Amino acid sequence: MYIETPSNPLLTITDMQAVADLAKANGIVTMIDNTFASPINQNPVDFGIDIVIHSATKYMGGHSDILAGAVAASNNHIEIIWNTAINLGGSLSDFTVWMLERSLKTMNLRVKCQSENALKMAEYLDSNPNIDRVYYPGLKSHPDHELAKSK
Ligand SMILES: *Cc1c(COP(=O)(O)O)cnc(C)c1O
Repeated sequence: MYIETPSNPLLTITDMQAVADLAKANGIVTMIDNTFASPINQNPVDFGIDIVIHSATKYMGGHSDILAGAVAASNNHIEIIWNTAINLGGSLSDFTVWMLERSLKTMNLRVKCQSENALKMAEYLDSNPNIDRVYYPGLKSHPDHELAKSK
């Protein structure tokens, strides 16, 4: 089962625990695109999701100067993914890896600050009578607010 939560761009929230429980009960592997939350805001492994992928182009890179991705999983899954990557031949340049490693050092600070700013901006826009709807799970008006808070 493959999920993306929060989804891009409407920020709908999927119940990771429910997905993981359903999948485990039926012997199904779960995989999540965790890009929009980042590893700072959400750790799907805590809910039993098997494979976590990220676009490292976004929060991990953080400077709009690299194109990369990352995957995290337990040994049995990562071995298959690693061998597939070797066979397909896709790999990052040393310069991209250097810039990504540079960026990861500040990801925690950047993402926390961006999340605070996003909430302020969402509240400001939500209070503007000229704006019909704001999609942000941090707002009480978001349909998935309670689910987002529980994660
Ligand atoms: C941007 C984005 C991607 C794709 O990332 P690239 O590194 O640009 O290929 C994948 N998933 C989500 C949720 C994204 O927001």
